[in-house]
Amino acid sequence: MNATSPDTTAELYASYVLGNYGTPACTLTRGEGAYVWDSEGRRLLDFGSGIAVTAIGHCHPHWVRAVQEQAATLVHVSNLYRHPGQGVLAQRICGYAGPGRVLFCNSGAEGNEALLKLARLHGRATSGEEGKRYKVIVAGHAFHGRTFGAMAATPQEKIQGGFRPMLDGFAVATYNDLASFEALVDDATAAILVEAIQGEGGVNAATPEFLQGLRALCDKHNLLLLMDEVQCGVGRTGRFFGFEAAGIVPDAFSLAKGLGGGVPIGAVWMREALGALFHPGSHGTTYGGNPLVCAAANAVLDVIESEDLLAQVQSQSKIWIEQLRGLERQFPALVQEVRGRGYLVGLALKVDHLPLVNLLRDKGMLVIPTAGQVIRLLPPLTATLEELSRSVELLAEALSAYQPA
Ligand SMILES: *Cc1c(COP(=O)(O)O)cnc(C)c1O
Repeated sequence: MNATSPDTTAELYASYVLGNYGTPACTLTRGEGAYVWDSEGRRLLDFGSGIAVTAIGHCHPHWVRAVQEQAATLVHVSNLYRHPGQGVLAQRICGYAGPGRVLFCNSGAEGNEALLKLARLHGRATSGEEGKRYKVIVAGHAFHGRTFGAMAATPQEKIQGGFRPMLDGFAVATYNDLASFEALVDDATAAILVEAIQGEGGVNAATPEFLQGLRALCDKHNLLLLMDEVQCGVGRTGRFFGFEAAGIVPDAFSLAKGLGGGVPIGAVWMREALGALFHPGSHGTTYGGNPLVCAAANAVLDVIESEDLLAQVQSQSKIWIEQLRGLERQFPALVQEVRGRGYLVGLALKVDHLPLVNLLRDKGMLVIPTAGQVIRLLPPLTATLEELSRSVELLAEALSAYQPA
């Protein structure tokens, strides 16, 4: 049996892999930089980056070396023991965020679960009683993950449907509408949780005034401002964190996706004083921040720093977004607007976006569909200006070929 032949892979998926992702579009077998190859040998420009995960592209030589060396040295130890990589990575995250404490986990949802647990601990500490102050205000169209807490914080029917009753203690306000958050604050409120840019929700960016207003609201009522940086963090917007554009610092935030460059790692940073709320034994996870994933994440940060990628994303994204705006003028019947920041960009269409995703794949480019007829473009932070411009050419070709249903 040849387990690597494309037909076999499709058959194995059809017979044995859970259908929760629908039928995958193609079989991918190799990646290098901004490109992946499918099982028929076709090269595709990967502007989905595994949903903002392969932040430094596929198989970056520095990352590969670091992971290979770590795999041959020490892959896993439990958190009953120290290992060098985790200490260094925690220090580096604090270097970007400010003095604080870092908890490692394995995914975005799991990071957000820790944020929700932090909110409960904060509520207990500030009310003197468990179960009195526990409510978290979230935003409409938010996405925080699929586990029970994160799902309850994700007010979307397509996420929650079928799994009710939800975990108690969430109130839903309107994104970018400060007054709607203020109106929901009561004695039971412990925290506010938002994204700086809603990636899954359709690439909606928070205004600086909105985030500054939330910061002031949280300070006024002693609420925690929690930010989900799972998608917009680790350089994606041209700054290390998405919230930096508003000039604020949250009380705690989650990271995942781009942090490991492809291996499963999540992290939660909280300001120093909050760290004491997690006493020994109060939280944990077996794999969290093990030597292999910390080596990978440290290698991602090495590359972001040594290749000056934040500055590169800032300067190149200005040119790229301007090129993308040309599509608004070129295809006024199809393209509504280009939005987002850095390398987290949405092309909002006036028509169904799924046929365009398929057309683009046929023409040699992978993109990610998201809510509200939006095509999400998430190039690796290492993308060259040539690759960015190529994506605009391919979009123009696909839009030209688009046949309205
Ligand atoms: C992807 C995502 C999550 C969930 O992360 P997983 O690793 O899939 O659990 C949470 N929040 C945001 C903003 C995300 O984009």
